[in-house]
Amino acid sequence: MKVLIADSIDEKGVENLKEVADVIVDTKITPEELIKTIDQYDAIVVRSRTKLTKEIIEKADNLKIIARAGVGVDNVDVDAATKKGIMVVNTAESTTVTVAEHTMGLILTSARKIAIADKSVKSNKWEKAKFMGTELKNKTLGVLGMGRIGSQVVSRCKAFEMDAIVYDPYLPPEVAKNMGVELVNEVHDLLKEADFITIHVPLTPETKDLIDEEEFEIMKDNAFIVNCARGGIINEDALYNALKENKIGGAALDVYENEPPKDSKLFELDNIVLTPHIAASTNEAQRDAAIIAADEIVEVFKG
Ligand code: NAD
Repeated sequence: MKVLIADSIDEKGVENLKEVADVIVDTKITPEELIKTIDQYDAIVVRSRTKLTKEIIEKADNLKIIARAGVGVDNVDVDAATKKGIMVVNTAESTTVTVAEHTMGLILTSARKIAIADKSVKSNKWEKAKFMGTELKNKTLGVLGMGRIGSQVVSRCKAFEMDAIVYDPYLPPEVAKNMGVELVNEVHDLLKEADFITIHVPLTPETKDLIDEEEFEIMKDNAFIVNCARGGIINEDALYNALKENKIGGAALDVYENEPPKDSKLFELDNIVLTPHIAASTNEAQRDAAIIAADEIVEVFKG
């Protein structure tokens, strides 16, 4: 069995695969090289760099499994893979806690203006009055999407003595009740109430521009919004206008409509914190992702 590791993954995953297969690590492979060589492989491991397009998949005559070390399979043409009988797996659980912790970081830095205060001190200023913050205690967290990550964010926010309301049309009411959160049927009901809004839904036609001009009008004047899910769920033009006109308290993004968000007008603003799609980037999450991806390939090889 021959496995191609096309994007860099933790060494432990590579070692595990070497026990059962010939492993080629080529994390700089180009689409042109991949299309020529993909038929040699029984399995491939990717993260987000390698795009497994229809054209590449159609040439993958021996491929049995595509393992995405991570969550989103946006870089894999899943329909083309399914048509060719190739299994596509991800490692959804591996990054849950890591993304929830990054979300907490962005909530805290928004509430306490940590990122902008850091910039100020490093430019030799001492602007204490400018950085008056807000406590999380007794504030309302609004969660869009109460899946793996959303639930982990809620349990962390409960430790900060926050209340939580949730919009997730697919969440059974009894699950919400057991988790001690209020479930609302309309996203606007959540936006009216929440002091901190955090997004944990997938990007789908239904969630594209879920937060647009109208939604910013509904939010509280001092509300903060955090997106560690996918770019495109918040409309960036509407976000820019809302922040520029101080319609909301602030925002924090880890993901963008276009990545990297080159020369974005959002860069001008002081009331937004930006990170470069690193919510899943911890050693622990990347190691788990590599191990789980390797395990899934081993299972397929074992039959
Ligand atoms: P999940 O599938 O466990 O949870 C998603 C939740 O969203 C589900 O409960 C689902 O019912 C709900 N949902 C679906 N459509 C909805 C809609 N229209 N309105 C409201 N709720 C809706 O997924 P997860 O593991 O919690 O991941 C959530 C998102 O985080 C994913 O989209 C993923 O792409 C993103 N993510 C980002 C990073 C990063 O590096 N920034 C890393 C991992 C995951």
